[in-house]
Amino acid sequence: MIKRSFLGLVKPRLQYNLVPDSVQELPVPKKVTLLLKVSQNGGPPSTLKVGDAVKTGQRLSASPESAEYVISSVTGTISALAPHVGTLAQKYSAITIDAGGQDNWDDQFKNEPTLDTAMKFFEYAPGNPSFKAFSDPEKTIRTIVINGMDQDLLLTVNQYVVQNEAAAVKSGVQALKKITGANRIVITVPENLVQQATTTGAEVKPVSDTYPNSLPHMVMKDLLGQVVLAGDTVEDTETVFMSAEAVAAIGTAFSASRPSVTKVLTVVGKDGTTRNVRARIGTRIGDILQACDISLSDRDRVILGGPMRGVATYSEDLPVEPGTDGIVVQDEADSAQVTDYPCVNCGECIRICPVKIPVNMLVRFLEARLYEDARNMYDLDCCIECGLCSYVCLSRIPIFQYIKLGKYELSLMETAEAANE
Ligand code: SF4
Ligand code: SF4
Repeated sequence: MIKRSFLGLVKPRLQYNLVPDSVQELPVPKKVTLLLKVSQNGGPPSTLKVGDAVKTGQRLSASPESAEYVISSVTGTISALAPHVGTLAQKYSAITIDAGGQDNWDDQFKNEPTLDTAMKFFEYAPGNPSFKAFSDPEKTIRTIVINGMDQDLLLTVNQYVVQNEAAAVKSGVQALKKITGANRIVITVPENLVQQATTTGAEVKPVSDTYPNSLPHMVMKDLLGQVVLAGDTVEDTETVFMSAEAVAAIGTAFSASRPSVTKVLTVVGKDGTTRNVRARIGTRIGDILQACDISLSDRDRVILGGPMRGVATYSEDLPVEPGTDGIVVQDEADSAQVTDYPCVNCGECIRICPVKIPVNMLVRFLEARLYEDARNMYDLDCCIECGLCSYVCLSRIPIFQYIKLGKYELSLMETAEAANE
């Protein structure tokens, strides 16, 4: 365990944590909740009902033809099905399963490294790998980049995996070659993990230890020599990113003949202490905190993800999802407060922005809900969502949240326009 300061009264060093903690294995919880995405017009799952028995590793979806699914992380009985609205109004069906003790593994998983297997079982694997680009006839993907460096300060999930599970990453690399046909697989790691990364069979690219150099747009520019244009995704440059944890999970699935149902996450306590735990996907956040001896008080802040890019949550009843790399707990005194004070044009945000966006102007248009102007005149689409502008803002304007809301509102407008064409 290490002790570091993070957002709050004491400013953090903007260097990644390069010392992965060992992993504490948590017991199987009494119940898990799995969040199954539903479309905006979708109803409750028609194929699932309270009282259904489920096995560990079983694929659960809203209907036989639905592309969205979750993988049960326990053996037990469905005890509740409820609607849930997540970040940016994403709708889910929350499937709660009471665990019944021993794991009884489902046998649907086929030990064949094909795109069909990947689409059916790995989109809910830890680390949330996505294979959709490989099945899109309008996209060509030639390169897979495995991120062995974590995506936020303090987190060490992927570094832990490279350091301790390089053999599983190697199996995952071999499986990915068969599944995707990608002719180049690269792994990015900090200098101290180059030796372990070399054993994975991927092309190793060391990444600097300064935030936000491990974010995909930065890796593309600094390590692969390709600039992702404004409004484009990394997939438009024929590249897909996956986390080292996701690739290790794919490798392990084929060697164990069953999908992975656990997730490693870094838990950061109120004193800045970090530790890594491995829990079943769907475990309640409150259960994780209890296992780490962290108790919450009124007005404490709980962030899912890391301190720079994570999302504050309102309930410790929310579950660990496949993409939850961290839980950060801050007490009120150490929480970065936001205000509705106006911008004072100090210029700190522009100086720190890695893509040199005129953030002071951008935020004025976002606050005024002039999203299209923010995109057309002030480079909203160039933002790589690092959160540095919010961190340095003298007026404590929640710039990062305004940016995410602006992008979301624009995506809704585009969807509506496409539906009307
Ligand atoms: S989050 Fe802020 S600092 Fe980071 S790229 Fe976007 S505008 Fe720039
Ligand atoms: S850091 Fe905040 S106050 Fe300073 S120019 Fe940027 S938005 Fe304005």
